[in-house]
Amino acid sequence: MRIEGIPASPGYAEGTLFNLDRPPAAYVAKASEAEEKAALKAAIGKAVSRLTSLVETADGDAPGILEFHIAMLEDVALSAPAFAALGSGEPADAAWRQALDAEIAGYEASDQDYFRARAADLRDIRDQVLRALSEDSETAAPPGSILYGSDIAPTRFLETDWSRGGGIALGAGSTASHVAMLARSRGVPMVVGLGAFADEPTGNALLDAEHGGIVLSPSPKEIEAFRQSSSSFAARQGQAQTFLAQPAATKAGTSVRVQVNIAYPSDVDGIDIATCDGVGLMRTEFLFGKALPDEETQYQAYRKVLEWAGEKPVTIRTIDAGGDKPIPDFTVEETNPFLGLRGIRLSLARSDIFRVQIRALLRAAAHGNLKVMFPMIARAEEHRQAAALFAEEEAALASRGVAHKLPPLGIMVEVPSVAIAPEAFADVAFFSIGSNDLTQYVMAAARDNAAVAHLNAVRHPAVMRLITSVAAFGREKGIPVSLCGDAGGDPAAIPALIEAGLRDLSVAPAQLAMAKAAIADVPV
Ligand code: PEP
Ligand code: MG
Repeated sequence: MRIEGIPASPGYAEGTLFNLDRPPAAYVAKASEAEEKAALKAAIGKAVSRLTSLVETADGDAPGILEFHIAMLEDVALSAPAFAALGSGEPADAAWRQALDAEIAGYEASDQDYFRARAADLRDIRDQVLRALSEDSETAAPPGSILYGSDIAPTRFLETDWSRGGGIALGAGSTASHVAMLARSRGVPMVVGLGAFADEPTGNALLDAEHGGIVLSPSPKEIEAFRQSSSSFAARQGQAQTFLAQPAATKAGTSVRVQVNIAYPSDVDGIDIATCDGVGLMRTEFLFGKALPDEETQYQAYRKVLEWAGEKPVTIRTIDAGGDKPIPDFTVEETNPFLGLRGIRLSLARSDIFRVQIRALLRAAAHGNLKVMFPMIARAEEHRQAAALFAEEEAALASRGVAHKLPPLGIMVEVPSVAIAPEAFADVAFFSIGSNDLTQYVMAAARDNAAVAHLNAVRHPAVMRLITSVAAFGREKGIPVSLCGDAGGDPAAIPALIEAGLRDLSVAPAQLAMAKAAIADVPV
């Protein structure tokens, strides 16, 4: 039986199913309230020290996620209701579970994907402490298993031995979750949105995280077909590596620039600058994670990336807060955040916060080849207002004698009004097509909703026609046009994008080799 889902991290896994939702071993209640208190305190401490030892060996995004978990566990506000319940005779496990479940329910009820994704972090913390309470050490999945359940916690992911393969199949889950990010960076196949599993399936399964599906109790014929797809995927990946070091070109020799998309300054640590043509998109929302960063913090972050890139261009996008990226003390509560005060709209409305970023960018521009772009532009007036703020801040820095440079100012083309009538933007420095948002707005299908994922298709003729006409407008007016949405790194979309006239794509670093290989296969 094949169940369809959404690919969150590409790859194939064949293995024994392991149920993530199996409850941990029972907790043995203590004789007194004082003993329960001591047991809960010790279990929290044990969970913290397990996490601390994981931080030491973790890399990439993992330390940040683990430190976030440690901070939550050490937050007395989170554990206070559990300790209070011990006073009314609850055993430690029930008290902790109830307190955390109440917190989790609040996050799950949020209509914003970001907060729903954080519920998985809280479930992780809950289970860490429950596991420590029952000292259950039998929950580790045998290496090579396919872990299935409604969702998986980031620490569960990090504790699992992936050295012998395996994969993740989730009934719910989200491609925007922390775990999906980790799975992509480690190359662990993962599929989300499979729906509830009917019974508790056991035995062998085939996970196809290239197309998004899982086959339970496979027949010999299904196994054979699966192994063929899996080895073709592995062969494509192996071949792709040979393209990494070379500049990208089609079969006919047409050059295509391939840049990378990054979010954290540390993302560049693992990338050889010789393998890409620069940074096509640095999303800055993540710098604004827990608190609004000051000018110096932002300046150092941008400068690090510019110095790494040397003479190659680095396109930094001004903050695109709102929509699916809420930021405390900045974004506002809205019933329809994707159509609300997001991106440049919010930056112009809160110019006090925007000016801090502008100053950091102007100062960082002195250290490399910076380009700046504005997200969610719908009208030319917004570009003019943002450019005017850059001019004002530049004059102020100049009068104070602070080193700086005014970078070229371009726009994201991700709102249909710009793609349909680009003539109002003939004086901007460059266009970067945001195919993720352009697709969701053209198709009226949210990018974070599994139920309408079939409608959210960049290759729909309506979306492709707009991309083609923006590329043609750019050529006619001499405005450089690139594309930095996820479609740029999707081998299935690349031929259509080149056909549409694009010669400049920006992709996730993990997709660089595959994207170059896909370009080499395009005939034009
Ligand atoms: C896009 O919309 O395609 C894009 C690149 O921006 P983001 O995914 O950050 O909205
Ligand atoms: Mg966008």
